[in-house]
Amino acid sequence: MALTKSLALVIRFRPYRETSVLFVGITPEYGTLHFLGKGFRETLKGFMAPFEPMTLLDVVFYERSRAQLQLLKEISEIEHFPNVRQEARTYALACHFADVVDQLPFGGERETAIFKLLIEALRRIGDPALDLECLSAAFKAQVLALAGFGPQLYRCVGCRAEDLNRSRFAYEQGGVVCLKCAVRMGGTLPLSFETLKAFRQLIRQSFEEALLQKMSLEIVLGLRRILDRFISYRLETDLKTRRVLSQLRVR
Ligand SMILES: [Zn+2]
Repeated sequence: MALTKSLALVIRFRPYRETSVLFVGITPEYGTLHFLGKGFRETLKGFMAPFEPMTLLDVVFYERSRAQLQLLKEISEIEHFPNVRQEARTYALACHFADVVDQLPFGGERETAIFKLLIEALRRIGDPALDLECLSAAFKAQVLALAGFGPQLYRCVGCRAEDLNRSRFAYEQGGVVCLKCAVRMGGTLPLSFETLKAFRQLIRQSFEEALLQKMSLEIVLGLRRILDRFISYRLETDLKTRRVLSQLRVR
């Protein structure tokens, strides 16, 4: 077993037996891994803060295959994201972002870019200059693109027409569809031309630029509906964290 060092964002944690800990962490190179820290509760004198979900750790572990438990040797806390812990809504959004990344198929090289985006998004949650819904739309649009699920937004997914002034979003086909083709397609959602343009921009820009994009409430809500449905369809599951988040929403 090789000794390996990595960053890991804790997403789930539980004490194990008398003195040990088990946690699940998202890493930049290996996707989601399960870790076992034997005797770690004694070392930490019962202080569990480093294992609190949404904490970024540096971990040293004996690397085994992805399906197995990784045996921890050392940990150190890198970042605790206090901004995320401000209120239930910011914490729920952070958990939802991590959940989306956790559920994405493991894809080797893209892991690092997706991990970086996740950490950057966690750093920006709770920033008073940013709207949480805009942040959420920017993160989801970009994470889909990085994972290889980027939607077709420039041509109709049915007839390849480029005139898309009046269109809908076909989440099963993964892109925009003209109204003529939409009639014979299942699984489409309303998409105004303004929303389509905003969607294109969110994917084309850097994350930092996307965060500053000005979007009306109508666009943000339209995008939320499309992105959530598209993600559920692609991941083949309705994430529990999405449902928790929707219960905490003010709009
Ligand atoms: Zn068409």
